[in-house]
Amino acid sequence: MDQLFDLDPTEAVKKVSGLLGCSPTSEKVAEYFDENDKLRHLRGNFLVPKIADLPPSDLSLVDGSEECIYLCGNSLGLQPKNARKYLEEELDNWAKLAVHGHTIGSRPWAWAENNLEDMMAKIVGAKTEEVALMNGLTVNLHLLMLSFYKPTSTRHKILLEDKAFPSDHYAIESQIRLRGFEPADSMLLLSPRPGEHTLRTEDILDVIEKEGDAIAVVMFGGVQFYTGQLFDMQAITKAGHRKGCFVGFDCAHAVGNVELKLHDWEVDFACWCSYKYLNSGAGGLAAAFIHEKHKDTIKPTLLGWWGHNLNTRFQMTNVMELQPGVNGFRLSNQPILLVCSLQASLEVFNMTSMQMLRRKSVLLTGYLEYLIKHYYTEDPAQPNKPYVQIITPSDPKHRGCQLSLSFSVPIKKVFQELEKRGVACDMREPSVLRVAPAPLYNSFRDVHRFIETLGKALAASST
Ligand SMILES: *Cc1c(COP(=O)(O)O)cnc(C)c1O
Repeated sequence: MDQLFDLDPTEAVKKVSGLLGCSPTSEKVAEYFDENDKLRHLRGNFLVPKIADLPPSDLSLVDGSEECIYLCGNSLGLQPKNARKYLEEELDNWAKLAVHGHTIGSRPWAWAENNLEDMMAKIVGAKTEEVALMNGLTVNLHLLMLSFYKPTSTRHKILLEDKAFPSDHYAIESQIRLRGFEPADSMLLLSPRPGEHTLRTEDILDVIEKEGDAIAVVMFGGVQFYTGQLFDMQAITKAGHRKGCFVGFDCAHAVGNVELKLHDWEVDFACWCSYKYLNSGAGGLAAAFIHEKHKDTIKPTLLGWWGHNLNTRFQMTNVMELQPGVNGFRLSNQPILLVCSLQASLEVFNMTSMQMLRRKSVLLTGYLEYLIKHYYTEDPAQPNKPYVQIITPSDPKHRGCQLSLSFSVPIKKVFQELEKRGVACDMREPSVLRVAPAPLYNSFRDVHRFIETLGKALAASST
């Protein structure tokens, strides 16, 4: 029944409940989805914490020996089992080979990150030479802006979401000041319409059309971290280019979550971190993308020896032979220990494709949405019953795996009661619970357990 995964999620739930003769809310439906999920085995490559090991768990309420309900891959992905093995290999190499580790072994330190770039490029729909693994996300955003943001007196604005991730907001603010402009004049912040939670594509395109001549760079998230909205990156890129703007995306919440085609969409530049859906561990190695069309024209503003052609890098001539495109933006030699955990995760992605993961994700998140709506739609006949509003768009084309939930009751208590019962998700100020079933390792059973637990948490928080 693999075709189930091509149905609209509500149809799929109804079909399975009909087939099994059970209620659409029965856990048997979740089990059936899991049995028919061709990617189910991928979970076995990750370490899922036990409930007893999570600090907020209350073992008088739940069985601590069970795996937790981990719906927090949008914040920190789970540890791939091979991470420890690869780290130990390099610690051994360091102990036994010391400086020779730079050039010897399966992962020579001097170019270790290069071995991962084809896997990373596949995940974002780029050519290998368009992607560089380096630094942290905010650092990469700065390095890219230094080359793409060249404001003039008439074209000095940067268009971004009003509630962009704080680091992106600060980075852009400081880039504007660095160039002698004022954020109040040059930062164009786009808000949803009054009463709406997410931006309409038409409104984004409209602003670009109307103000594009004054916009130097359009800099959006791929998936909005707070609302979970997936932007139409291709349409935004096209609209920006029509007005002569550069268009870049912060793909922190999009990479490993939705299908990206950075090359085909002709995105000018992008950056992302690897510790969210890409599971490389906190502070993992980040990435940058520059479209190949810019490889000989867009140059790095800041140089380091890692931007030098690898073949002659160690001749120490002090005459820069700059690598083309994003490779010229490298500055320092790579943290090999960060390469290890990222490799462990990318190898799991490499066992499947983003297309297959996305197909599962649409059903997995659709199933979550179905159950939330079933139990927690506002009911005027029961004014005291708590209800949940999903602020994430309901069209799968406009979202990734995350749903952002707002509650009719105070959220903090609900969140605490969920945590006591072994759920890992996160609360974001002012009032949203972010729940993200990651298709790489979450199961339909996880979603069902979450809904059961949410019922208990809401009951407990209203007493
Ligand atoms: C997670 C995230 C960051 C974090 O930046 P770091 O430099 O990795 O600390 C920045 N921007 C966005 C959009 C994010 O989602």
